[in-house]
Amino acid sequence: MDEQAHKVVIVGGGAGGLELASKLGRQFGPEHIFLVDNASDHIWKPSLHEVAAGTLDIHREGLSYAMMAKDNGFTFIYGEMSGMDRDARLIRLNPVVDDNHVIFPARQVSYDTLVIAVGSRSNFFGTPGASEFAVALDSTQQAERFRKLFLRKLVIANNSPEPPDPLRIAIVGGGATGVELAAELVEASHNIRYYGLDRFDPVHGVQIILLEGADRILSALPPKMSAAAERLLRQRGIEVRTSVRVASVQEKSLTDSNGGQYPCDICVWAAGIEAPSFLATLGLEVNHLNQIIVDRRLRTDDPNIFALGDCAQVPWSKEGEYLPARAQVAHQQAKYLMPVLGARIRGAEVPAEPFRFKDYGSLVAVGHTRGVGSLMGVLSGKSWFVEGLVARVMYMSLHLMHHLAVLGLVRTSVMAIGRLLLKRSAPRVKLH
Ligand SMILES: Cc1cc2nc3c(=O)[nH]c(=O)nc-3n(C[C@H](O)[C@H](O)[C@H](O)COP(=O)(O)OP(=O)(O)OC[C@H]3O[C@@H](n4cnc5c(N)ncnc54)[C@H](O)[C@@H]3O)c2cc1C
Repeated sequence: MDEQAHKVVIVGGGAGGLELASKLGRQFGPEHIFLVDNASDHIWKPSLHEVAAGTLDIHREGLSYAMMAKDNGFTFIYGEMSGMDRDARLIRLNPVVDDNHVIFPARQVSYDTLVIAVGSRSNFFGTPGASEFAVALDSTQQAERFRKLFLRKLVIANNSPEPPDPLRIAIVGGGATGVELAAELVEASHNIRYYGLDRFDPVHGVQIILLEGADRILSALPPKMSAAAERLLRQRGIEVRTSVRVASVQEKSLTDSNGGQYPCDICVWAAGIEAPSFLATLGLEVNHLNQIIVDRRLRTDDPNIFALGDCAQVPWSKEGEYLPARAQVAHQQAKYLMPVLGARIRGAEVPAEPFRFKDYGSLVAVGHTRGVGSLMGVLSGKSWFVEGLVARVMYMSLHLMHHLAVLGLVRTSVMAIGRLLLKRSAPRVKLH
């Protein structure tokens, strides 16, 4: 390997980091481009609610980083960043342990340019009992945990000699994740009955309640979209309560700030995000959500370190506002950093244009097989709103575009056709 090669190390192979590593890798090769992730497989995070409902099989959907590194020409390093030495330009990785065996010891990775793209996780806002009793959907493991819990409770209810009590699911947070999960669970319940749980009544057997603190669900999006989403959820039998602040979570119930009780068998927490806490220990400036504060060029206060995606606080053009934690933001930021990092690798002048976010609209899928109900609206204004099949096709194309960016045209096409064919031989919901 060339000793002098400028090393770009990207930490976090998610919606933003993986696209950046793949595109840079194709251009500059593995001696320049390094991707660090604490998982061995990548999943596009906006699909996690489908993994949780069992309508998407993680064992089919996950993409191996090692394979993508080989195909795209970057070096993959499996490990979790825990700290850094900015003077020595090193990041520190925790040991990788599997089944009590140390696979990789603690390591250090040197960089010339560092891009931090480690995403976010659920924010419990210090709510008593939330981290203990609520399930979050931050990772494939958590989504799988929810899926198994959901399936197990349905099977037990189906096998009980008495007429089974309905399974009560409370979802805290009426943003896109909460809305999409609620609708997906209704579809999964119908599909599960189809596969033999015939004592279980999909209409009354699962009671879903969606609790939102603001006065409308999808409060970051235009009011028209909130109203349409609420209508679709209610049509699917989901109870929607707004202006409800959850004050504590217990094993079998939630309590709101007025003392109201909401009994539940499973509680899902989808009420906001924060960046990983280790970011606050790096000596970089962070906000109250541990997000790294960057300027409009995605630069931190260290000239060799950039941050993008959910873990970065980036000014928006609207005065005093910051970009939302969305996959399309991370994607556009990755695209913006391509020529910037390319110039640094070549030792050329870095383009001076600041990052500008183009809001192409936010898609919310309210179910996907039983009656299409995808909605779309822009975060920054109220100028357009589409729903139905058009929005559904656009929703699917977002995922496809991510695959195109990281896998290229041939692999994406083969995979899309393969999945279409596999659908014919697989159940509509993952049953094991
Ligand atoms: C259920 C759900 C549904 C969503 N739906 C939508 C949607 O419809 N549309 C939309 O625009 N957005 C949606 N989002 C938000 C979207 O997923 C995020 O905004 C987007 O994934 C952020 O991209 P990112 O690259 O910043 O981080 P991520 O995609 O979260 O990737 C972060 C990566 O960093 C890795 N990592 C974390 N910590 C470390 C560490 N210490 N060391 C090494 N690696 C680390 C993780 O393994 C991960 O691969 C949804 C999110 C969820 C949870």
